[in-house]
Amino acid sequence: MASTEFMNKEYNMHLDFSVSLGPAYTKWMKALGEKKILANKCSKCGRHFVPAKPFCEICFEPIDEWIETDGEGIVESFTIGYAKFRNLPDPPYVIGVIRVGPSAVSMVHWIAGFPYDKPEDIPDKIQIGMKVKPVWAEERKGDLLDIRYFEPA
Ligand SMILES: [Zn+2]
Repeated sequence: MASTEFMNKEYNMHLDFSVSLGPAYTKWMKALGEKKILANKCSKCGRHFVPAKPFCEICFEPIDEWIETDGEGIVESFTIGYAKFRNLPDPPYVIGVIRVGPSAVSMVHWIAGFPYDKPEDIPDKIQIGMKVKPVWAEERKGDLLDIRYFEPA
């Protein structure tokens, strides 16, 4: 017979670290500081990538063609957070999987900037396939959070 008693353990993880972005991510991040969302393109298969990739994971070709997208994206998926976590916004918040421009891949970012009366109304405010556009931070430093969030376009 299975036990119905479970233990609770408290853990606390705090990690400070840095990562080398390499040339592709560096170029992509610097463009965010100028309110531009770039895509790079594999010259062999023609697929675009937002965020940029250093090489195409299908062709294994280095990528050196770049375009500037209009920044608009499509919501591919989303989830709503109702719990408070360190380094995340006060709940409720929406984490979206967003495909920007012609990209073959998606990126994860906040979705906000839409009105709602009650948190439980949020799922009706966002739809898969909905167009979104970036809302830029006033002060930018070449970082993913130069985009404050995406809002309905
Ligand atoms: Zn390719």
